[in-house]
Amino acid sequence: MSYLREALSPRVGEFIQLRRDIHAHPELAFEEHRTAALLAAKLSDWGYTVERGVGGTGVVGTLVRGRSTRRLGLRADMDALPIQEESGVAWASQHPGLMHACGHDGHTAMLLAAAHTLATDASFDGTLHLIFQPAEEGGGGALRMMADGLFDRYPCDAVFAMHNMPGVPQGHLVLREGAAMASSDYATITLTGVGGHGAMPQHAADPVVAAASLVMALQTVVSRNVDPLQAAVVTVGALNAGKANNVIPATATLELSVCALDRDVRSLLEGRIKALAQSQAHSFGLHADVAWRSGYAVLVNDAAQTALAREVALALVGADKVTLQGPPLTGSEDFAFMLERVPGSYVLIGTGDALDQRLGGGGCMVHHPGYDFNDDNIAVGSAFWVSLVRRFLGA
Ligand SMILES: [Zn+2]
Ligand SMILES: [Zn+2]
Repeated sequence: MSYLREALSPRVGEFIQLRRDIHAHPELAFEEHRTAALLAAKLSDWGYTVERGVGGTGVVGTLVRGRSTRRLGLRADMDALPIQEESGVAWASQHPGLMHACGHDGHTAMLLAAAHTLATDASFDGTLHLIFQPAEEGGGGALRMMADGLFDRYPCDAVFAMHNMPGVPQGHLVLREGAAMASSDYATITLTGVGGHGAMPQHAADPVVAAASLVMALQTVVSRNVDPLQAAVVTVGALNAGKANNVIPATATLELSVCALDRDVRSLLEGRIKALAQSQAHSFGLHADVAWRSGYAVLVNDAAQTALAREVALALVGADKVTLQGPPLTGSEDFAFMLERVPGSYVLIGTGDALDQRLGGGGCMVHHPGYDFNDDNIAVGSAFWVSLVRRFLGA
């Protein structure tokens, strides 16, 4: 554990206070003005070159040491969620209806603690870009920063990010090579028929019956079209049609969410869902309109960069606290877009293994109103970042 002690910030308590301050002042996607101002001021004080307003409220802090041309990017997300906090902690959200329920307050604090340690010693050689991203929770802040020229203005040879994970022992590091998180796509299917009297269906073209059939048919995409050894999800989360028991409505709408862990499976799902909607509607004498919205991409961790992150993790916390190849997750993460452009890896850090939402705090899954980031991870997480920088940009 000597590596851990050596990489730890001596001021870790200060960063726990900072985390709780950010937690008390959560901000939604692209509104992270206070958070961005707070961290930008600290990075400037520590000698980083800081640019604000990258892709909205994003911040990039750059520190150059020595002469190496190697460039490393580390990314943390900053946004909160529209959830009313019920954690009961003293530092709970002061903004009604908003809370840091995904631990992005902790991710920001871990990266800042590492930034402080790295600024106060000269233990690396190269260029370090710290990327503080807005709007991870569905807003696509990573894409906005990239559209604003993130990697043209701040080129990186590799990029890494870290997320806390309830249900995994506190401080354990989980790595995975290859596809690690799912793509997320959304579709609205509108079936248009002919409305009429509920007792005289022969004069109508009923979209309710067609919608019911389509919901069942859509379940065959995963069971019959996708390779059984691949993962996929097709969920019809909303089905809306009609208002009265004796009226056949003219339209029915289905809202879908679709996940895949493979780029080919992702396009297969889109193709089959569109084809089924059209053919089912046609068979009932209706018209189908499919509005497809592409969400986050499949997150794919680079093999070489994941191997490097594994080495760093093993040296830092020891083999009993490292999962070398964790399972993939069906959640989504917009760091996937950065990994499509620059090789890198997405690392999970365990929040605590007692996953019981009645316990509150670390016992809650992220996005639960009782959730709170585990502050013990600020030491481990920031030490991982410091070690990774020293390894990647070895002096
Ligand atoms: Zn989240
Ligand atoms: Zn998150």
